[in-house]
Amino acid sequence: MADPSADPDCPFCRIVARDVPATLVRETDRVVAFRDIDPKAPTHVLVVPRAHHASVADLAAADPEALAEVATVAAAVTSDDGHSDFRLVFNTGPGAGQSVFHVHGHVLAGRPLSWPPG
Ligand code: 5GP
Ligand code: ZN
Repeated sequence: MADPSADPDCPFCRIVARDVPATLVRETDRVVAFRDIDPKAPTHVLVVPRAHHASVADLAAADPEALAEVATVAAAVTSDDGHSDFRLVFNTGPGAGQSVFHVHGHVLAGRPLSWPPG
């Protein structure tokens, strides 16, 4: 893999490297956005940095511009799908539902979203 941060065992590094297929919807120099394989809303897109960072806090510390780009791309993919309102979620740690330890923002849109989440 060209990116020295890439982890060959990380499913999202493999998607970024195009070793594993995914439905990409947007990409920039720093981030890639692709549809979740098990969508929970009409729009359910994952926005990930190209570089491997385990959590949103790690990404914020290492590359705050990449984190800002995750937010910008989240709004863009929502708009691309014809929606205006969206939720951007970073599950952080197993107790909060994180199952893939390459930081990803879940972009959920296209249906009413209740609060608080479960
Ligand atoms: P987490 O549980 O870590 O917050 O979210 C991981 C998300 O990644 C889940 O919503 C899951 O459906 C999605 N996911 C896991 N593996 C793959 C994959 O190989 N491709 C895609 N497109 N999504 C995946
Ligand atoms: Zn990774």
